Order: sequence, then C-alpha cells, then structure tokens
Amino acid sequence: MKLYIVDLTPLLGFLTPWFVSAVVLGLSVVLPARRVLGYVRDERTGQLLRYRLNGPLVFVVTIGLWLLAGYSGPMPWDWLWAHRWSGAAGALALGIVASAVVVLTAPGRGGSVLKEFYLGRRLNPRMFGGRVDAKMFLYVFGATYLELNLLSFAVHHYSTFPGDPSPAVLLYVALFTWFICDYLVFEPVHLYTYDLFAERVGFKLVWGCLFFYPYFYGVGLWAAADLPNPHAPIWLLVLSALVFFAGWSLARGANMQKFHFKLDPERTFLGLFRPEAISDGERRLLCSGFWGVSRHVNYLGEILMATGLALSLGYPTLLASWLYPLYYVLLLVPRERDDDRLCAAKYGALWDEYRRRVPWRIVPRVY
Ligand code: NDP
Repeated sequence: MKLYIVDLTPLLGFLTPWFVSAVVLGLSVVLPARRVLGYVRDERTGQLLRYRLNGPLVFVVTIGLWLLAGYSGPMPWDWLWAHRWSGAAGALALGIVASAVVVLTAPGRGGSVLKEFYLGRRLNPRMFGGRVDAKMFLYVFGATYLELNLLSFAVHHYSTFPGDPSPAVLLYVALFTWFICDYLVFEPVHLYTYDLFAERVGFKLVWGCLFFYPYFYGVGLWAAADLPNPHAPIWLLVLSALVFFAGWSLARGANMQKFHFKLDPERTFLGLFRPEAISDGERRLLCSGFWGVSRHVNYLGEILMATGLALSLGYPTLLASWLYPLYYVLLLVPRERDDDRLCAAKYGALWDEYRRRVPWRIVPRVY
C-alpha cells in the first residue's frame, strides 16, 4: 500500500494572512483603547463618531506574538518570506472575500453593483457592537502585517548572507518601521483624513489594506532580500535617510498643523507657525506654514519618503524598488485633483481665494 503524504505548507502559507487578521481583529476588540471623538459624522444621526483606538498596542502585542512564535517554533521568523507567494495569494483572496462580505451585506445605493463593489456602500461600518471601526482596523492590520513581512524578509536576508549582510536592508526596515509607527502613534490624526470622510468601505479600501498595503509597500525588499550586500557608499545611505526625513517632516508637519488648526484655529503651531487663515465669516482655510507653500505639500512629503526608501536599499538601479514611489505619484496626483474638486464645491469662493493665494498644487513653484 502506498502512503501519500500531502504537503500542507502552501495551504498554511495561504492561510497565514487570514490567521493574522483574526489575531489583529481579536486584539483590537479585547485590548484597552483610548476613546476619541472623531471628525466624521454618523450618516444617520449627524453626530460626530466616537472611536476606540488601540493601534499601537495591537501592533506591539502582534509583533511580540510573532517573536514568540518564531522563538518557540510554530512559525519560524522567515516563514512570511518562505511563503510570500502563497501568503500574497491568501491575502489577495481574503481581500476579495472580505470586500464581498462588507459590500453585499449593505443596502445598495442605487448605482451599478460593480461600482459599488469597488467603491463601497457603507461610509463608516462598525463591528462588535461599535467596539471596532472597520476602517481603523483595516489600517492597523495593513500596517502590522507590513511590519511582519519586512521583519521576516530581513531575517531571510541576514540568514542567507551571515558573513556579509547588507546594512542597507537594516536601514530600509528601520525607515519603514518609523513610517509605520508614525502612523500608529498619530492614529487620531488619521480620523481627519480623506479616507475617513470621503471614502466608503469597498474593494478599494478593503483589498487595499488586506493585500496591497502589506504586500506591495515592501516590494523593494521583496526584490532585494535575496541579493548580496551591494556595498552602497555611505553617502547614498545618508542621502536616502535625509530624503526620507525631509519627506516625513513635510507630511507630518502639514498634517499636524491642519489637525491643530481644526481643534483650535488660534493656536500657534510648534510655537513657530502663527495661523493665518482666510474666512468667509463661517468657514476658515489655513494659508500659512505648510499650507502656504502648496495646497498639498503633505503629498510631496509622502512621495519623498517613498523615494528615500527606494534609495535606502543601496541598489538605485533596481526597478522594483521604484514601483513604490511611482505608485504614490499615481495615487496622489489624481487624489489631489479629486480633493480640489471636493473643496471647490464645499468652500466655493473661499477656495478660489485660497487657490489664488497658494497657486501650487503639490510641488511649490513646479506643479
Ligand atoms: P489632506 O490631509 O490634505 O486633507 C484634505 C482635506 O483637508 C480637504 O478635503 C479639506 O477638508 C482640508 N483642507 C484642505 N486644505 C485646507 C486648508 N488650507 N486649511 C484647512 N483645511 C484644509 O489629504 P488626505 O486626507 O488625502 O491625506 C492625509 C495624509 O495621509 C497625508 O499626509 C497623505 O499624504 C497621507 N496619505 C498616505 C497614504 C499612504 O499610503 N501612506 C495614502 C494617502 C494619503 P475639510 O473641508 O474637511 O476641512
């Protein structure tokens, strides 16, 4: 009698994102959270939404569990690298299934089903009796799983080239970890962003956070983890960190200045930027500091951060690492146009005045 032994590891690789998403969701429900009043209003009641936010804690506990699982055996630290293709397929399938569940369980909005599947029906769905906001969970999952992928890919690199590992891999993971932790630390600021007030929960957002965010953002390391140390000159690594932090200062600075302006329009930001605003007597727009140099200098910041990350791998001619900054250009240029249209409709003549005062869309004096 022949005994067939089926290798289940590809299936386990496929199921890993499903399992991790269940862990992150469970932790989001049970871990303590700070309660924050949001910026977006409930569609039905018109009341400001309240949030339970515990992203940083969920992140730390998940990374801790991953470390423990690698140390004690069930999931080696390079598991996500070894099963990156089946894991990506699993995340892709999870994104499709979760999108279908979120969209098809909501009442239709009268448009085409395909369009509603892509853009979503519900604006701010909640889970577990309101304990978890679907959008905020999706972002925490995407950020946490991206970090796990980066750590696992780096483990693969360091175990493949123990004698001459690339310090650029360490730099790349450190900069990306900064990017992820920055998002989590400033989680409440995200409540004031376009995704929260303008986008519905459909395939774009669900699949984007469950698959695209954790698997595509680290595409540079996906390509470079298997490559030997490029012995990049130190000036290139320093330059990449400078470009990254210049971008971070623009993005974080602009977001924080607007956040504080919304909470207290008179407050001087960082003790440096006295708020100058234009007003139509009812509404105000900030036109000083970061918001005086271009109308979306934060988008320039994101593109610079992505450029710094692409350079930090030490392989400036590696095409895969440039896909990430290219993605930001393709995402943010049309998004700025959409936001501009939205604001023109919302603010009318006040927005025209702002455009006159601050003529640049994203890059001062260029675009
Ligand atoms: P913004 O933070 O620029 O928000 C735009 C909104 O801000 C407008 O709709 C308007 O909303 C308000 N606003 C615009 N101009 C002014 C002004 N002069 N004064 C006061 N309010 C103003 O864009 P996003 O929400 O798109 O992005 C938020 C952050 O997230 C950015 O840093 C962006 O780069 C980042 N991001 C990151 C991504 C990633 O994958 N890492 C992807 C996309 C974005 P209102 O009328 O309600 O005040």
